Amino acid sequence: MELIASKEKLRELFAKFAPVGALEGGGNTRLAYGPEEDEMHRIFTETARSLGYRTWADDIGNSYAANFAEGAADKSTVIASHLDSVIEGGPYDGPVGVAAGLMVMEELKARGIEVPITVIAFRCEESANFKLATLGSELLTNQIDMKLVEKAVGRDGTPLPEVLKKRGYLGDIKRDLPYKEYIELHIEQARVLEAAGEDVGIVTAIAAAHRFTLHLSGMADHSGATPMSIRRDALTCAAEIILAIENAGRRESGNSSVATVGVVENRPNIINAVPGKVTLQIDIRGIDADSIARVETEVKTRIEGICKARNIDYELIGVDSKTPVTLDPRLVDDLYQSAVREGLKCRKMPSGAGHDAMMFPKVCPTAMVFIPCKDGISHNVKEHTEFEQMENGIRVILGYLAEKK
Ligand SMILES: [Zn+2]
Repeated sequence: MELIASKEKLRELFAKFAPVGALEGGGNTRLAYGPEEDEMHRIFTETARSLGYRTWADDIGNSYAANFAEGAADKSTVIASHLDSVIEGGPYDGPVGVAAGLMVMEELKARGIEVPITVIAFRCEESANFKLATLGSELLTNQIDMKLVEKAVGRDGTPLPEVLKKRGYLGDIKRDLPYKEYIELHIEQARVLEAAGEDVGIVTAIAAAHRFTLHLSGMADHSGATPMSIRRDALTCAAEIILAIENAGRRESGNSSVATVGVVENRPNIINAVPGKVTLQIDIRGIDADSIARVETEVKTRIEGICKARNIDYELIGVDSKTPVTLDPRLVDDLYQSAVREGLKCRKMPSGAGHDAMMFPKVCPTAMVFIPCKDGISHNVKEHTEFEQMENGIRVILGYLAEKK
């Protein structure tokens, strides 16, 4: 289904978004509940209103646009994503999905097809500001631990509750739930589609992260005077553990699990001392709960063994434990068939990264459409995708909705 009403509007909308939080040399910073995210929501709402749609915001700042009269939300298809970014991020992670919602409504309108659509622009999907991800969608769907909100503090030191209170948010959230179904278009944030020369991916499952902080305590000693035989070097212990964690991830990579040590803090971190204390942050992810559990067990066993052999004390603290999310097989298949009808090269695939879509299987049938991003780069000023690639994603959603009608 060729796009007849939205090609130009899509480019115009991204031209309006482009200067918001723009960085010298490319990329954007649009932190959650900051002035740049506000501006993105203002542009979204103003654009939707100028196209003739009903717009509103909820009590935590998520913005909405709908092509039907109030009261029929449960019959509407939600097309959604977020408008915030990481620090020094790109312009496409999030806005692509929000823009797609408006463009799908424009295409339906131009064809005289009546399908109720609710477009949602979520707040605070990225954890960059408050160390809390998918806040807007979690609050909307009642899946947040309010204790986390109460404890969250922004990068500038302002507590999140203060930010929300100042904006008059966090009253009784006006919820239209449930919806008929939820579809999110997003850049892939990996290189699978690009490497295979494919146009779109239909997401079957979203990986869950299990995260740990590991404190290792040995003994800080003089690096010249302390014989090798009596050292309790926390950093060499950490080195062995890091490789063991990589190995545990590799062993389960056939089941799409991954394991990473992304943070190493070494103390005293000076050239003439044997490192006495090391902290590691461990991130284990996968789409198969049993596989994640196997990685976790192996990691724990290896940490215990390595620490024992090296006479290092340790404390392993679980900091996050989410469950992988399976998306709706019927909706996944319908979107896949739509892509095939559009003549696009496509595959079904898991998502290694988290998305607002994770919150919706508890609310309604949910699926995601991925489009390639250049070299798989995202959360980076070099993030790029072509308008033609966005249009492919829009066509898949449009084709599905038109076919179902
Ligand atoms: Zn995103």
